[in-house]
Amino acid sequence: MSFAPRVPSPVVELSDDRLAPYGVRLYLKRDDLIHPEIPGNKWRKLKYNLAHAQAAGHGTLLTFGGAYSNHIQAVAAAGHYFGFSTIGIIRGEEHLPLNPVLAYAADRGMRLVYLDRTTYRAKHDPDLVEGLRREFGDYYLLPEGGSNALALRGCAELPAEIPFAFDAICCASGTGGTLAGIALGLGEGQRAMGFSALKGGGFLADDVRRLQEGYGRVTDNWSIEAGYHFGGFARRDAELDDFISDFAERHSMVLEWVYVAKMMYGIVDLVHSGRFAPGTVVVAVVTGGATC
Ligand SMILES: *Cc1c(COP(=O)(O)O)cnc(C)c1O
Repeated sequence: MSFAPRVPSPVVELSDDRLAPYGVRLYLKRDDLIHPEIPGNKWRKLKYNLAHAQAAGHGTLLTFGGAYSNHIQAVAAAGHYFGFSTIGIIRGEEHLPLNPVLAYAADRGMRLVYLDRTTYRAKHDPDLVEGLRREFGDYYLLPEGGSNALALRGCAELPAEIPFAFDAICCASGTGGTLAGIALGLGEGQRAMGFSALKGGGFLADDVRRLQEGYGRVTDNWSIEAGYHFGGFARRDAELDDFISDFAERHSMVLEWVYVAKMMYGIVDLVHSGRFAPGTVVVAVVTGGATC
């Protein structure tokens, strides 16, 4: 099975009359075009994990996620393309028929195992991990969302793919692994901004710091915007929907709504509130594409 990721992903300027009067130049880093089945940050986060799992002789990947997790979908695809068996530990009960994400994962050969929410919360508990090993044998463990030190290493490669000078780079954040990694790859004077797709940016900052500690280098060149979650993870409202339609009309591009549209809304809002000085060059990472 050949796998040909489109890396470096394209960088394109976005001309938008909402930004021009503020003297801010905005570019999109089209990571959504890296691969249709393992898009964006999911490929960057998996890349070194897959190499490591292969080198260590593991035949199975095991990971955790919610029923609509892009990470679960990406791991199922990675198993298919790189010759691993895959096990997805899914939060909550089984619902049939399977939703599109889980149906795709099952189709790619992933074994789906459901854990009730209480047990799932204890997913890092050594007893649970030991129990999973007894049940499934040897496996390479990818944490929820795929964020670990090797994932950061993959994401840290992104900034060097941008062929011009920029001041700030923006990404949407779930577990914070992408933000933590991108920040590690920045040069002097550049900043990374993560737009939280979840309610409560506070714990996210702790998570980003912990992830960088696990990597072995903590940087202070990143920050989190916590005010653009639109009610919480996978919530949307009319204002966000209007923004997405308007953006599609302006740019012929449908934004992925769980993460990317919220970031983009946030960037436009911050430009309008004067957060970026005239002349600032901003790069927005399009971490994934619209699926529905
Ligand atoms: C998973 C995902 C994210 C979140 O990445 P983290 O590294 O968990 O912060 C952002 N955008 C898209 C499209 C994703 O699928």
